[in-house]
Amino acid sequence: MTQKLDLWFDPAKCLIAGQWVDPAGGEGLPLNDPSTGARIGSIARGRTADIDAAVAAAEAAMAGEWGKTAAAERGRFLFRLRELVLDKVEQLARIEAIDVGKPLKQARADAVALARYLEFYGGAADKLHGQTIPYLDGYTVYTLREPHGVTGHIVPWNYPMQIIGRSVGAALATGNACVLKPAEDACLTALAFADLARQAGLPDGALNVVPGLGSEAGAALTAHPRVHHISFTGSVATGVHVQTAAAKNVVPVTLELGGKSPQLVFEDADLEAALPFLVNAGIQNAGQTCSASSRILVQRSRLDEVTELMAKRYGALRVGPALSDLDVGPLISAKQQGIVSSFLDRGADLDKVAEGVLHEAPEGGNYVRPTLFAGVAPDHVLARDEIFGPVQVIIPFDDEDEAVAIANGTDYGLVASLWTRDGARQMRLARKIRTGQVFINNYGAGGGVELPFGGMGKSGHGREKGFEALYGFTTLKTVAAFHG
Ligand code: NAD
Repeated sequence: MTQKLDLWFDPAKCLIAGQWVDPAGGEGLPLNDPSTGARIGSIARGRTADIDAAVAAAEAAMAGEWGKTAAAERGRFLFRLRELVLDKVEQLARIEAIDVGKPLKQARADAVALARYLEFYGGAADKLHGQTIPYLDGYTVYTLREPHGVTGHIVPWNYPMQIIGRSVGAALATGNACVLKPAEDACLTALAFADLARQAGLPDGALNVVPGLGSEAGAALTAHPRVHHISFTGSVATGVHVQTAAAKNVVPVTLELGGKSPQLVFEDADLEAALPFLVNAGIQNAGQTCSASSRILVQRSRLDEVTELMAKRYGALRVGPALSDLDVGPLISAKQQGIVSSFLDRGADLDKVAEGVLHEAPEGGNYVRPTLFAGVAPDHVLARDEIFGPVQVIIPFDDEDEAVAIANGTDYGLVASLWTRDGARQMRLARKIRTGQVFINNYGAGGGVELPFGGMGKSGHGREKGFEALYGFTTLKTVAAFHG
């Protein structure tokens, strides 16, 4: 197993206080290859005792060397870590591809994005500061931006490297000590990252990783009374658990949840420019992307054209093992495959206009064929619920008001894009659309780490990425000195 994955650490251990240790219960969880369905090893099954040890290690780091490290030095540490990540991009990409099932080129892009987060937050570490506030005669008033202390990071399986970069990167830049609970379905690059952080000179305990089940290690972390901030990325149902647990300790949370993100194609859209985005945004990472565009809203006069063009692209999509590096890989697990298949069954009444093709996909892998449905009513379950698989629906609309109503008509509000040449419409709709990000004549803007990201409605709250994340990972103290 380790040969295939080429790991330089033992995936069945936790990293606590700078040491690789067995989980206290000595138990493991299966490590599966989504491309074949085969079990290829074990990971640690961390539980409450391991989370307790990790939190204690993080507290010790805050009280020790890490808590005294200057902001500029924290930045330099992140730069060193960036170099180590860049040295290992190919290895990290291969590990992630095998673990998550994502095509190699997508995993490589994630590793490069991780390095970019470290660069951005490394550069920002010593540029975050408080303010002086003009006040009454005889006072000097200023604010201090301080780390929360121990931060908990719960990460899903779909983009481990990117999500670790944006949350742990920002938390370390601002001087917090982190306890990271990666997903049980894909935790290898979290462990790799933590080991590289150690190699880059991060003081012991500043970053601890405890793999395990959400209901065990995850729940123990979110309910821990000595964790001061929780960053959670995952499903709405789990987000509700996390926020409820955090509320009992009155601890702030950032919730990055799901989406049902629309692209609005108006009659004046440049379709040639739009087409790659319309499809890629739905099938990237096999649709297992919180900001996947699963709804394509098209003005009726262009409906047939868009449907035909998208269907043609769908017909050419090849689906196969991660290391074959095709357009679409397997889903993360047999469970996820079951969920997506059941959505496809519920679309039996719809007009299925195209599917991708399986290409040398092993029998036991978690594959589904990317599927495009057209002429879908906005209240159909496939147009409302998050599927988290490579499935898109085309929904017709007649005018701008109807387009906005449909776009805003789900429980979610993560991202949206507008395809139109009309500048006034661009500005008008950018305000009316209720999502955390709006893209105009593009989708995702290349995922820039500089761009604050997060949701409205059931897509969550709080912002990560960009400078905004640094505010989220700090707390503000006001100091008012009376000197007469
Ligand atoms: P999930 O909520 O099941 O798991 C996410 C993480 O939470 C995992 O690490 C899991 O172990 C942990 N967890 C599970 N139960 C927990 C509990 N009771 N307490 C604490 N932690 C717990 O989600 P998933 O299936 O891994 O990911 C898919 C979902 O996540 C989708 O809905 C997707 O939209 C969403 N997602 C959102 C973003 C975003 O940035 N907004 C990114 C990725 C995924």
